[in-house]
Amino acid sequence: MSRALYPGSFDPVTLGHLDIIHRSAAIFDEVVIGVLSNNAKSPLFSTEERVKMLVEVTRDIPNVYVERFSGLTVEFARQRDIHVMIRGLRAVTDFEYELQIAQSNRKVAEDIDTLFLTTSLEYAYLSSSIVKEYSRYGMDVTTFVPQLVAEALRDKFDGKLLGGNKNG
Ligand code: ADP
Repeated sequence: MSRALYPGSFDPVTLGHLDIIHRSAAIFDEVVIGVLSNNAKSPLFSTEERVKMLVEVTRDIPNVYVERFSGLTVEFARQRDIHVMIRGLRAVTDFEYELQIAQSNRKVAEDIDTLFLTTSLEYAYLSSSIVKEYSRYGMDVTTFVPQLVAEALRDKFDGKLLGGNKNG
């Protein structure tokens, strides 16, 4: 059975992530989404919240599983006996960073490969950071994230908006 790990922060999951998840699920028999919990980026959403949102938005894809992990991604892959990791590539800026990580991972874990999927053009500009920034100012982000994530963002920033319009 072919299996792959799609690791990331998913803070929060966007339509860009979801696109990669759908496409990976069509390639592999099983895809495990690994939600990193020991994140140096101090995430907006707790690990539980990020996992919960991912579980909800992937409910209709039977061969996708969501798990939290901490520590090294390659170690988590090994624990699950997974030998392929998927990463999404948006632009040249992603490339340098991702190449460095993939190459160093090859050095410490020769049994694990990184597979890159290029983003669908419609999501090439999209990042969790941009979505959070818009939400912080009260902008509607339903064109960037699944509906329930847009609602979670609205709840998160409710009463803490930094300006702009607040639509309930
Ligand atoms: P990390 O903190 O590990 O970079 P992210 O949650 O930001 O985690 O991203 C997880 C993966 O999804 C990364 O490989 C990233 O390049 C990819 N990704 C993020 N946004 C998009 C997008 N809009 N289209 C395609 N891939 C994306």
